[in-house]
Amino acid sequence: MNSVDLIEKSKRYLWLPFTQMKDYDENPLIIESGEGIKLKDINGKEYYDGFSSLWLNVHGHRKKELDNAIKEQLGKIAHSTLLGMTNVPATELAEKLIKITPEGLTRVFYSDSGAEAVEIAIKMSFQYWQNLGRANKRKFVTMTNGYHGDTIGAISVGSIDLFHQVYGSLMFETYKVPFPYVYRHPSGDPVQTRDESLAQLESLLKDHHEEIAAVIMESMMQGAGGMILMPDGFLSGIRELCTKYNVLLILDEVATGFGRTGKMFACEHEGVTPDLMTVGKGITGGYLPIAVTFTTEEIYQAFYDHYENMKTFFHGHSYTGNQLGCAVALANLDLFQKEDIVNQVKRKSVYLEQLLSELKSLSHVGDIRQLGFMVGIELVKDKTTKEPFPFEARTGYHVTLKLRELGMLTRPLGDVIVFMPPLASTEQELKEMVHLLKKAIVLVTEKEEEPVEYEVGRR
Ligand SMILES: *Cc1c(COP(=O)(O)O)cnc(C)c1O
Repeated sequence: MNSVDLIEKSKRYLWLPFTQMKDYDENPLIIESGEGIKLKDINGKEYYDGFSSLWLNVHGHRKKELDNAIKEQLGKIAHSTLLGMTNVPATELAEKLIKITPEGLTRVFYSDSGAEAVEIAIKMSFQYWQNLGRANKRKFVTMTNGYHGDTIGAISVGSIDLFHQVYGSLMFETYKVPFPYVYRHPSGDPVQTRDESLAQLESLLKDHHEEIAAVIMESMMQGAGGMILMPDGFLSGIRELCTKYNVLLILDEVATGFGRTGKMFACEHEGVTPDLMTVGKGITGGYLPIAVTFTTEEIYQAFYDHYENMKTFFHGHSYTGNQLGCAVALANLDLFQKEDIVNQVKRKSVYLEQLLSELKSLSHVGDIRQLGFMVGIELVKDKTTKEPFPFEARTGYHVTLKLRELGMLTRPLGDVIVFMPPLASTEQELKEMVHLLKKAIVLVTEKEEEPVEYEVGRR
């Protein structure tokens, strides 16, 4: 089929996630293939995968070892259920995962996406207290500006107004603790410090711990909320408070897990072990949808009993523990070891920091936040006052469109430009990508400081 026909069909039949389809109709894009850290569209134009195909990709595309792992597994079986039985790669992968996760996490519960892993963590921690006869403990504490996926449970513990507000009456209520957004508090409040935030959590737990099941939060860096790095000592402070008040800690490592931040899991930066931990995204190297909820043995044991005692965890999905996904996840973990990915990221992220520091002097770059290969560049209208660009200007969006033109793909979070290159990116590739970032930011934000054309009503 020729590319004009394909574009026409994509506009006629598809509805894309997190996409205003009017935008898509104006700027359609169809990817046909990928090689290394580049993607190619149906017209043959190449792009750097500057956001790891939405924060997933680790070793680049068409990695031989990963391709072969899937082919080999296909020669045996594609899928059988995990309900009441298991399969070979799901079992082997569980052992390998437990060996690399923080000590204390001993059990693997599979699902297919980060949001599901979060739903499972919510239901598990909720039922855990019921199974222990502590049925009052049924509330959750979350961070403002947090993101945990898009299903109803996951948005209930999330807190990004732009995405979540419209569903208000569908969600369950949570306690929200202000997240220490050091550059700018999201609501425009005065800057919240680490200690203020921890003090608010402590006073909440002091008064309400008898009715709180768990604290759920992202680990070290809030992702979709705008790439916001936690101050040192924040996560370990939270861990201490959860332990002190007998509340479970659920850490969402869906974005930060598997080397993204320069540690295998981001909580290692603070030496923290959560009671439950969710992972997804990088677990299969960005190949297939596998996610995991990890728990401690203590939580597992609270569900282990005679069937009649009604403590079973009644939750599962059709494709839980899929063999193809688990096989490629195993090959992914082998590559982590063979190619020393985590240390490589740690090393290359020092170089990346140098590259990014060149962007700091640009007149509309307000803040650059980085942990390993997880980067957010916050664009502002006025650097001194931190005044944002007007919402309607869609500055972040226009920068990413310009980037696309220049040969790199990413998605903005408002006016925060996300840079999440595949972990295997070389120093040369990082340099080229940061060069494109700089060029696009300059071209869009410094074009003679005239009012931006909003393109309202254009077709
Ligand atoms: C992406 C993400 C999720 C959701 O994962 P999906 O696989 O898209 O459902 C959950 N939590 C965090 C922190 C994420 O970044």
